[in-house]
Amino acid sequence: MNKKSINNILILFLVVFLVSACDKKGSNNSKSDNATPFNAKVDSILKLMTVEEKIGQLNLPSAGQFTTGQATNSDIGGKIEKGLVGGLFNIKSVASIRDIQKIAMEKSRLKIPLIFGMDVIHGYETTFPIPLGLSCSWDMELIKKTAQMAAQEASADGINWTFSPMVDISRDPRWGRVSEGSGEDPYLGSQIARAMVHGYQGDDLTKTNTLMACVKHFALYGAPEAGRDYNTVDMSRIRMYNEYLPPYKAAVDAGVSSVMASFNEIDGIPATGNKWLLTNVLRDEWGFKGFVVSDYTGVQEMIAHGVGDLQQVSALSLNAGLDMDMVSEGFLTTLKKSLDEGKITMITLNAAVKRILLAKYQLGLFDDPFKYCDDNRAKTEIFTKENRAFAREVASQSMVLLKNDNQVLPIKKSAKIAIVGPLANTKENMPGTWSVATPKDKSISLLDGIKEIAGENASILYAKGSNLSYDENFEKIATMFGKEIPRDGRTDEQLRQEAINIASKSDVIIAALGESSEMSGESSSRTNISIPQAQKDLLQALLSTGKPVVLVLFNGRPLVLTEESKSVPAILDVWFSGSESGHAIADVLFGDVNPSGKLTATFPRSVGQIPIYYNHKNTGRPLNNKDGKFVKFLSNYIDERNEPLYPFGFGLSYTTFDYSHLKLSSQTLNKNGSIDVSVEVTNSGNYEGKEVVQLYLRDLVGSVTRPVKELKGFQKIELKQGETKTVTFKLTIEDLKFYNSNLDFVAEPGKFEVFVGTNSDTNIKSDFELVKD
Ligand code: BGC
Repeated sequence: MNKKSINNILILFLVVFLVSACDKKGSNNSKSDNATPFNAKVDSILKLMTVEEKIGQLNLPSAGQFTTGQATNSDIGGKIEKGLVGGLFNIKSVASIRDIQKIAMEKSRLKIPLIFGMDVIHGYETTFPIPLGLSCSWDMELIKKTAQMAAQEASADGINWTFSPMVDISRDPRWGRVSEGSGEDPYLGSQIARAMVHGYQGDDLTKTNTLMACVKHFALYGAPEAGRDYNTVDMSRIRMYNEYLPPYKAAVDAGVSSVMASFNEIDGIPATGNKWLLTNVLRDEWGFKGFVVSDYTGVQEMIAHGVGDLQQVSALSLNAGLDMDMVSEGFLTTLKKSLDEGKITMITLNAAVKRILLAKYQLGLFDDPFKYCDDNRAKTEIFTKENRAFAREVASQSMVLLKNDNQVLPIKKSAKIAIVGPLANTKENMPGTWSVATPKDKSISLLDGIKEIAGENASILYAKGSNLSYDENFEKIATMFGKEIPRDGRTDEQLRQEAINIASKSDVIIAALGESSEMSGESSSRTNISIPQAQKDLLQALLSTGKPVVLVLFNGRPLVLTEESKSVPAILDVWFSGSESGHAIADVLFGDVNPSGKLTATFPRSVGQIPIYYNHKNTGRPLNNKDGKFVKFLSNYIDERNEPLYPFGFGLSYTTFDYSHLKLSSQTLNKNGSIDVSVEVTNSGNYEGKEVVQLYLRDLVGSVTRPVKELKGFQKIELKQGETKTVTFKLTIEDLKFYNSNLDFVAEPGKFEVFVGTNSDTNIKSDFELVKD
């Protein structure tokens, strides 16, 4: 045996010893420094590592098209052998992941296991509604359970890290990625961030059915100028702290183990290299103990931002607090040189490596690198009947009824139904954007869902009616990534005529219109957020038959529906609701499920109103009328009203709810006290139903200007016909706090208005005073 082999054996022995000596129980709470039991082990491994191996741990390449067997011969395989890779993403299946982990475990010198990431955004193979849709359920238990199920499935397929939750607040529906977040409100967004982190990570990250979560995109990615993806962000610190940062902080407080830096700049410095953001705020102020990964080529993109060459931006990022470089290989190719030249220190490098190794310990990978590679789990736990049944329930809970004149809905299963529209018969578009793992051809289209649920005796006719768009090139962009909607070669007139023919023979028309799935999501910003003209013309033709029309709207963002809201009697917003879309849509259309979703993003009347959001400031010249009349020299438009088409929190039901007897337990609140706010809600209609009761506050006088309303509580209740429930909210001083101009989190004495109701436009109000103690 030569000296090298003896050395290798010694190293192997040491690593095995360290691994088995480690405390087996990790925890998800990175904030509370649960990493302590692993610190000594990590330090010992660190001592064995060469500089190259250390830098290798910070390298996260995309596996791309990796399949079983190819890895060993690939460049990435070679790098893994040399210890130059810390983890991989974009790789699916136990067999492929096992193959790659084997390279690390059998061929690399230190045998440090890899982590495997993926964008498991709204489900894995079983897909739930896009996050914007999911948020409209306002049901935290349900949302948490979707994350749990996603973790269960993804971990059964070899994955241990998800790039989710995406918690970017956005008030700009031109930005395509509003579809991936939870809308415009920091309070609701924070609750959802927490629910998702708990759902993915559970209470024990070492369990094989949990995933390490990664909150993204830190920070402010949802506020790009002009709604154009990846564009510049510029905002005041006070706005950041009060309106945009809370959901990221909520995820950190919930124990999220990793954070992804965003593409955009903040105060002129790209987030990926922004020390104030990644160190001062994230680690020093918020106490985050996990690791930070860049977004896809985020390091390299800083060259185009204009802050240096690859070596400079890589050193800038590491020094700022970035630990892992996704895809750029800026760390891999330049950090050694920067170390030699004194541009980074060994202390900084070690700190980053430690954070990655700690995450691997917390996942239990040092205990068993193949713990997520269980063929049996992969066969039995993914895309199961039970999971799909849950996805169907979730989908119906996310749909928002925007209009229902003359109770067109629900439809009788025995009715003659005409189903029309380019989105009626497309399985592939149902899962929505960022559903990389889902078997798209196994999703349920609206047409199939309705046929199946209506039953054999139903009378259902179908016609496409129009292409997605008149513009063939636009249609290509809008149907990428396997989301084709084959273009119909007939003329527009022929397509419409066929639709009118079947519509005339029917009792009711279901018009499946809106966006295709790839019209929203990453790099899908739009300047015109209306339904495409070809479909609008089809809708007019359908309306001209005089038959009742139900617009089933597919969309990944709020759309401008001003015309449709006037002319169409019923509108059901179904977003992209996942694998079980067609079944869930049918459940709601036929009244087997009474819709209860409420909007989490404002729907504008016109693109010119954007950014538009309910929790805006008042200005010195507010327009206080609600009749839409223009008033010179007040803050309004000469060509459009101020109010949105559908406000935040809005959503109808097949039944009606009456609010009465708003009561406060006291008119004053002191520092250590609380006030109970109660309201009676009665189901005054003809169906059993669910209602999201919402509470908003207004701080009337502040040291800095305060929003006209802020959501501070909500409860989802279920009421039978004629039933009344008293809903009570408890307010404490914590609910009154905000960041003042020194960025101190304070509650200021004075008067507060409290509003309770069915959406953010409620005027049922009372008031109280926060008194000085
Ligand atoms: C997106 C991220 C995603 C990453 C990895 C990027 O383009 O911005 O949200 O997690 O790709 O797929």
